[in-house]
Order: sequence, then C-alpha cells, then structure tokens
Amino acid sequence: MSEPKSVAIIGAGIFGLSLAAALRDRGAENGSRLIDDFKDHKVTVFERYDYDQNSYDANDDEIQAASVDHNKIFRASYGKEIHYQRLAMEGRKFWISEDEKRGCSQEGSDSEEKRIFVNSGMLRVQPSDHLEALERETLANMERDGFRDAQFVKSNAEDQQRADRLGWKDKLLDFTIPDSSPVTSYEAVLDSLAGFVRCSNACAHYQKVAASQGVQFRFGQELGAVDSLVKESSTTEPEKAKVIGLKTKDGVIHKADVVVVAAGSLSTQILPDLSYHLESSAGSLAIFKINQNDKELWDKYSPEKFPVLTWKSTPRDPTGKDTGSIYVLPRTPEGLLKIGYRGLKFTNFKPAPGGTPFTQDGQWSVPLPPKECHSLQEQAEYAIRQFVSIFLPEFRNVPFYSAKLCWYTDSLDNSFVIDYVPEYAEKSVFVCTGGSGHGAKFLPILGKVSQ
Ligand SMILES: Cc1cc2nc3c(=O)[nH]c(=O)nc-3n(C[C@H](O)[C@H](O)[C@H](O)COP(=O)(O)OP(=O)(O)OC[C@H]3O[C@@H](n4cnc5c(N)ncnc54)[C@H](O)[C@@H]3O)c2cc1C
Repeated sequence: MSEPKSVAIIGAGIFGLSLAAALRDRGAENGSRLIDDFKDHKVTVFERYDYDQNSYDANDDEIQAASVDHNKIFRASYGKEIHYQRLAMEGRKFWISEDEKRGCSQEGSDSEEKRIFVNSGMLRVQPSDHLEALERETLANMERDGFRDAQFVKSNAEDQQRADRLGWKDKLLDFTIPDSSPVTSYEAVLDSLAGFVRCSNACAHYQKVAASQGVQFRFGQELGAVDSLVKESSTTEPEKAKVIGLKTKDGVIHKADVVVVAAGSLSTQILPDLSYHLESSAGSLAIFKINQNDKELWDKYSPEKFPVLTWKSTPRDPTGKDTGSIYVLPRTPEGLLKIGYRGLKFTNFKPAPGGTPFTQDGQWSVPLPPKECHSLQEQAEYAIRQFVSIFLPEFRNVPFYSAKLCWYTDSLDNSFVIDYVPEYAEKSVFVCTGGSGHGAKFLPILGKVSQ
C-alpha cells in the first residue's frame, strides 16, 4: 500500500472548502485529476481568519473574503454558457439535499434562518421593453435542457398564466421605464429555479462537513496565515522548482506533497505566476436596513414576496454615466436589503514585487485593507441611487445603513482557474480560484469537478 500523501490548501473560502470536502468525500466519483491523485490522503486547510470562532460572520467588518457575506445569488441562467448552466443545476440538487438533511424541506418557509438555499426566484429585468440577445440565449438554453417551463416572460400571456398556476405570478413585477412616452415598462423574465444562498451560513456548514470528514483546519493570523511557499530544486525536472510545503506566519514550515492556492483575491500575492490570469477588483455593495416594526416593508421585501432582482447593463444615461448591472436580494432575517453594483469594478494599483510575470507598468491591483472598504466611489453610488429610484422607491431618500467594497478574483474570461501550475515541478502546486463574481453558488460541486 502506498504512503498517504498530503495536500495543503491555502484559504477556507468557497473554493478551498469545496475542494477540501471533495478530497475527503468517500462517495465522490473519480474522474477529477486531483481527486484521483489525492483521494483519501491527508488534507489540511490553512486560513488566516478564525472562522472556527466567528462562523464566517458577515457582520464582521474586519473580515475581507468574498465568501463571507449574508447572501449570494443562485442562478442557472448563463446565456450561451451551457456548461455553467448545467453545473449550476447539478449544484442546485446538492444545495437542496444538504438543506433537507438539515431539516429544511423545499416546501418549508423561505424565511427559515437555517435554510441555506432559498428558492425565492430571480427577476431578470431587461434594459428596455424587449428581450435582449443574452436573455434570448438563456431562454434557448433553458429550453434545450427542459427548463423553459420554469421561466416566465412578463409579456408572454402563456407564461403569465403558467406563473399564476404555479404560484409565481406575484413575483413577476412590473416597473415603469422612467420618462418613457407613451408610458412603458421594462420587459422581465422570472426564473423560478433561481434564488440565493446564505453564503456565510453555507461556508460555516461546509467547514463542519469537511472537518467531520477528517480535513484538518489551522485558523488564525499566526497559525493559519500563510507567509510563503517553500520550494526546492526538483530532481526529476531540474529546470523547475518544486514546492515542498508552506511557511505560516508563526515561522513553522508545513510539508505537503501538493499545495493548493485557493486564496481568492489574494491568490496572486501568494503565487505571482497567476498575475497573467487573475486580477483583484472591487464590487460595490450598499445596504438598507428594514425595521421589523415596519410591517409593510418587512413583508414586501421578504424572500416569500420579493425575488432576487437583477437589472442588466443599460445604455448610459443622458449624462453619459453607467447605471446598469445592478441587483438586489430579498431582505435577510435581520432586515438587511443588499444592493450590488458591478457595472464598473474598481482596482487598487500598487507596485508589484520584482519578478511578477505580468504587471501594468510595474503595478498590479491588490485589495484595499478592510478598514478602507466601507465607502463607495461616486460612480457606484450614483448608479445605485438611480436603481433605487426605479426599483426600490421607498428607499429613494433613505441613507445607506452600510456600504462595502467586496473583492472579486477576476479571470480573463470569467472562467474559474482550476489546475496544476505547469511552472512547478512534479505537480506540486494546484490552483483553485478565479471566482469572477459567480463562484459561490457552486460550493457543493466545485471541488468534485476540479480537474
Ligand atoms: C461583490 C461580489 C458579489 C458576488 N456575487 C455573487 C453571486 O451573486 N453569486 C455567486 O455565485 N457568486 C458571487 N460572487 C463570487 C463568489 O463570492 C466568489 O466566487 C467566491 O466567494 C470566491 O471564493 P474564494 O474561496 O475563491 O475566495 P475568498 O472567499 O476570498 O476566500 C479566500 C480565503 O483565503 C484566505 N486567505 C487569503 N490569503 C491567505 C493567506 N496568505 N493565508 C491563509 N489564508 C489566506 C482568505 O482569508 C479567505 O478566507 C460575488 C463576489 C463578489 C466579490
């Protein structure tokens, strides 16, 4: 029998957790290279935050990780990218079964705090009064896989009747296009397969699942934070270095047969080779708080009554400013109504270390420190305010309860970056990152398909 090998994963966010759990999941099917290579071996996750103590607390301002958040959208609508549609639908089955194992059946209340996947539906509001090309592609691919009946186009009488029959009609909301003459409203498609995942809760749950499967976790700024990779010359591939482990901030070296970089928007800083493929950029989040005593608003924006609402990119407004690519999620159990703007993403360029393979005039974008991530750029605030005035009129003059910059790990084509790194010998480095603003929904499935 061969000696068990060891895998060290840097980062306990969505990507690191998903992979860790899959590597120790005895029921996982073979087929993924990493799982075939390392199944049943020792897996240790290194994480700089004390998630074991704070349970991925989304209200903790000191934590900066895309996965630590109240909620993220679950959707299978991906235009032409049918592989993501299929992956999302595969993931959906796992979310539902994981919730069922925890006593939340699909028939139960959406407001059940324990529930991780909330099937609130998602209304894809178009930029105008007709369907855009991307939407038509999505509908065609939904049709192709047999999900067209779960999509309801607002202007389509047959879809409206079906929505009514299936109990979705009240979420097929109507919004007037400002200054339209004659008065018209935005076209929209309600997707009854979609909704959101309670992201921090999902991470806390999967961390426990992974730990129960034997994954070791090292948390904290000293024991868990990784300072550097430890390298030596390879005997079999002398022109390359081989990574033999990692050094944590406390100075301890941890040997491993393969090191996995799953450090989200900090991945390039651990492995600058990734600078060709990844860039850190900030999305803008603005939050209103609804008081539970305000019964009307509390009900109106609950997941039972209000879908996730996305507004696609729009033509620039008359002053030339970008106002589209915004979304809002139903209020959380504590009353937080989160709006996200991704029309413009923001970078923070700083000098890159010498030897970084790809820079822009010697610079690269790195996340701002958490304490500098609580105010929005003027363009983002302007766009969010336009959105609010159309879609959330009760909040038109209400100040934000809080605001946040949340850091994306963007890849060149928004696809995930999951593979061995060929610059290193003997398959000693694997990378699992590049969430590009859509990775959270895949937590249950990412690690299983990492190949
Ligand atoms: C604004 C925004 C909105 C999004 N919306 C959606 C959405 O609606 N739906 C969706 O599916 N996805 C969404 N995403 C994407 C999703 O959140 C990400 O794809 C996913 O959370 C990324 O997970 P990750 O594990 O790669 O990174 P992270 O969550 O950043 O986790 C990386 C972990 O690595 C740790 N780490 C970093 N450096 C070190 C080190 N040196 N030592 C030890 N630990 C380290 C960090 O502390 C962190 O915990 C969104 C992302 C953003 C930014």
